[in-house]
Amino acid sequence: MNEQTIALGAAVLMAALILGALLSRWYFAPTGSHRATLMRPQAAEVNDVGWCPAEQQERLHAYHADGSRMCWTCRTRTPGGAS
Ligand SMILES: [Zn+2]
Repeated sequence: MNEQTIALGAAVLMAALILGALLSRWYFAPTGSHRATLMRPQAAEVNDVGWCPAEQQERLHAYHADGSRMCWTCRTRTPGGAS
């Protein structure tokens, strides 16, 4: 009787865990717009290759809304308008 109770309890626990996993998976499923918000906190910030004045070569930069950009390699900030 006691073993059966333990087995039943374990089965209920496992069922609850599986159900919880499935529910959280459904609840947190990436739905296009939600995921896009997480990926891009600032819609105006774009990554693109640009000229890095510090390294004197093309590097991947984060372009900010004010026109400035930041080099992802050496973190140099280049003000907007400069090219
Ligand atoms: Zn750089």
